[in-house]
Amino acid sequence: MVLEITVGLLLSLLAMPVLGYAFALPDRLRKREEPKREEPDGPSPVPALGDVPAPDAEVVGLPEPVVASPEPVVPPVEARPAAPAPTALRTRLAGTKEALVGRLSGFLGTRTVDEGLLEELEAILFTADLGVKTAESLLDAVRTEASGAPAERIRAVLREAILGKLRRVEPGPESWQTTQSPHVVLVLGVNGSGKTTTIGKLASRYESEGKKVILGAGDTFRAAAAEQLEVWAKRANCEIVKGNPGGDPASVAFDTVKAAIARRADVALIDTAGRLQTRSDLMAELTKISKVIGRELPGAPHESLLVLDANTGQNAISQAKLFTEATEVTGLALTKLDGTAKGGVIVGLADEFAIPVRYVGLGEGVEDLRDFEAEAFVDAIFAA
Ligand code: GDP
Ligand code: GDP
Ligand code: MG
Repeated sequence: MVLEITVGLLLSLLAMPVLGYAFALPDRLRKREEPKREEPDGPSPVPALGDVPAPDAEVVGLPEPVVASPEPVVPPVEARPAAPAPTALRTRLAGTKEALVGRLSGFLGTRTVDEGLLEELEAILFTADLGVKTAESLLDAVRTEASGAPAERIRAVLREAILGKLRRVEPGPESWQTTQSPHVVLVLGVNGSGKTTTIGKLASRYESEGKKVILGAGDTFRAAAAEQLEVWAKRANCEIVKGNPGGDPASVAFDTVKAAIARRADVALIDTAGRLQTRSDLMAELTKISKVIGRELPGAPHESLLVLDANTGQNAISQAKLFTEATEVTGLALTKLDGTAKGGVIVGLADEFAIPVRYVGLGEGVEDLRDFEAEAFVDAIFAA
């Protein structure tokens, strides 16, 4: 009797830590899997144009299965979290893939390419955020190259046509490799497009490559903007030049370039306030900022990077149009391609502007800014 109780007690005592551990597990796992989301103030209070849908948590939050290791089901808690697995372009572009290519599967079947089928294809292309001109040009390619052929041929023709358009905007080597230091990048775009985040990611990347980076908090319009950039500066372990709230952004840009020269920085990344492409006064301000930078360092800014949010779809094309009309734009960054079905806009941008697409944003983490590669992008979209 006494023995039984003692054994029972012992057993439950033994079981407790195990159970406790098991119950705490989800928490531990969640902590390990939490994506980097340390934005100080989250999305800008006023989303620029239309709602920005929250990224699909499943796609964004979970790291890809790392290495298939056979035994330890539960990694020890003290173990260092694994380095973020490189995210598969395919997973992040799933929405765009479905909107562009996934919808083809439904009707290709065993048909041949005739006028009826071309009409159906037209409907798909015209609603895939490519832009009218680009959709028309893709439809033409299919008409001339696949008429009378089995419908499956459409996939290959579209793939080649889209790849051709995207290859035109694949960037060459980064221009800072050919210019003298500091390489100055001025970052432009509407409110909430991802300017500050893109600068933060770039700063971290350059620093990890051993480059000396200086950030310029040129968004003097929104109160929290400088603090947001400062968080990124701390994370990247780089310096930041700030102005007064409400101050002249051109003077912050000037000071940043001056500091970059004095401290022999390799790269200066200058943030600007978000502005609507329809406000010509604010567009003119950008040209002024550029001029002031160029006065301090001839040839600078070496890059005027327009940041566009893929979620805005066709509006991104309108933004590109008005920004390029108003001021010089030498490169594009297309952000938030994760969790959107509107990534087809990249093809329209490539087709209409032929401005190099330097970066694509695939998530909020530092590692989620990628160099744009046409072939990899097309592969991800057309992957079986
Ligand atoms: P800014 O107003 O142009 O400076 O925009 P922010 O850099 O403040 O970004 C606005 C929001 O978009 C923030 O919540 C960012 O985390 C988010 N964001 C930026 N780039 C990406 C991206 O590539 N993917 C996702 N999912 N979110 C992004
Ligand atoms: P509004 O000019 O009558 O529309 O007055 P606002 O209160 O919108 O703007 C006040 C000041 O801030 C003006 O000098 C504008 O040029 C500037 N401003 C307004 N909106 C923006 C914006 O989105 N970005 C930036 N950078 N400046 C802005
Ligand atoms: Mg910002």
